[in-house]
Amino acid sequence: MRMGLTGLCILFVLTSCGNMQYREPARETFLAMDTFMTFTVYGENAEEALAEAKEQVLGLEKLWSVTDTESEIYAVNHSEGRPVEISRATEELVAFALKMAAETDGALEPTIYPVLTAWGFTTGEYRIPSEEALAALLGRTGYEKAVLTEGGICLPEGMMLDLGAVGKGYAGDLLAELLAEEGVTSALLDIGGNIQAIGRKPDGTEWKVGLRAPYSDAVFGSLMVSDAAVVTSGAYERYFTGEDGKQYGHIIDPDTGYPVENGLLSVTVAAREGKLCDALSTALYVMGAEKAVNFWRERQDFDMILVTEDERVLLTEGIEERFSLDKAYQDWTKEVIKVGQRE
Ligand code: AMP
Ligand code: MG
Repeated sequence: MRMGLTGLCILFVLTSCGNMQYREPARETFLAMDTFMTFTVYGENAEEALAEAKEQVLGLEKLWSVTDTESEIYAVNHSEGRPVEISRATEELVAFALKMAAETDGALEPTIYPVLTAWGFTTGEYRIPSEEALAALLGRTGYEKAVLTEGGICLPEGMMLDLGAVGKGYAGDLLAELLAEEGVTSALLDIGGNIQAIGRKPDGTEWKVGLRAPYSDAVFGSLMVSDAAVVTSGAYERYFTGEDGKQYGHIIDPDTGYPVENGLLSVTVAAREGKLCDALSTALYVMGAEKAVNFWRERQDFDMILVTEDERVLLTEGIEERFSLDKAYQDWTKEVIKVGQRE
C-alpha cells in the first residue's frame, strides 16, 4: 500500500467575509489509486458533483491499476507481445505519458515497471537487486518500443507499463472537466497529494496549498493558486532502508535502474494541467536541479519549486510572489530562477 507522507496538504479555512455567509462544502475522504483522496466541493450541486467525481476516479483506477487483474493496464502488461484493445481514456493517458517520455529525453520512463518490481516497490517486499539483474531488466524498458495504434497498444514481450507517475495528475484534469460540466466553480481536490484547484475559494480569494517538508510532517512553505494543479515528487514519499543502511526511494533513474540520488529532496510543479505537473514533477526529480533549471528555461510552460539536500529552495520567477517560506524554515535559502540568468 502506498500511503506514506504526501507532498502537499491543504491549508485553508472556510471564511465568511462581510455579510456573506457561505454554505458548507461537500467533503469526502476515500481510498483510491492506492492513496487517500479528499475532495472538497462548493456550491449548490456540490454533493451530486462530488459523488460523480468519486465514481469517475474509481472507474479510472479500475482501468489503470497495475495489480487489479481486471484492469486494462494489467491486460497490457500480461499480453506477451500481443496487441491489446484499450479504452479512449487509457489511450490518451498512455499517449501523453509516451509524449512526455520523449520530451524529457526518457527521464520519465513509463515502462520502468520491471525495474520497480525488482526493488520490491510494487509489493513492499523490498530488496537491493544485483547489478546484473538490473542490467537485464533495463533491457525490458524503453518507451520508444511501445506501439500505440488507434484503440490499442502493443508492447514487446517482457515489457510492462506503470502509469503511477502520471495517472493521478491526468485524473485531476478529467475531474476538473467533470466538475465544470456539473456547474461547479469552486472546489479543491487532493488526489493523494496532487492538488487540483478548481476556480477560487468561495470568498473569491485564492487557495493556499501547503508544501510538505521532505521526511517531515511540517509544511515548509505555501503557494497561492487558482484554477491550477500543484504536484510534488520526492523519494521521501516512499522509500526503504536497505541492509547497507542506505535509503532507497521509489523514483528510479531509467539510465541506471537505481533509485534517484542527485541532491534533490523534492520537486513541486505548478501549472494549469494536472497531467503536465505530474509527469514533470517525476521527470525533473530524475533530472536533478541543473538539468531541471535548463529544462524550465527552454519551456517555461510551468512553474517549479525544487528543495535540495543542502536546504535551498529554488523557485521559478513566475511564482515568486505566490510562494512564501514558513517561519520555521526561514534559515533555508530561497533562490529565484530567472529566465535570463545563466549559472
Ligand atoms: P510520482 O509520485 O508522480 O513522482 O510517481 C512516482 C511513481 O512513478 C513511482 O512510485 C513508480 O510507480 C513510477 N516511477 C518510478 N520511477 C519512474 C520514472 N523514472 N519514470 C516514470 N515513472 C516512474
Ligand atoms: Mg508524477
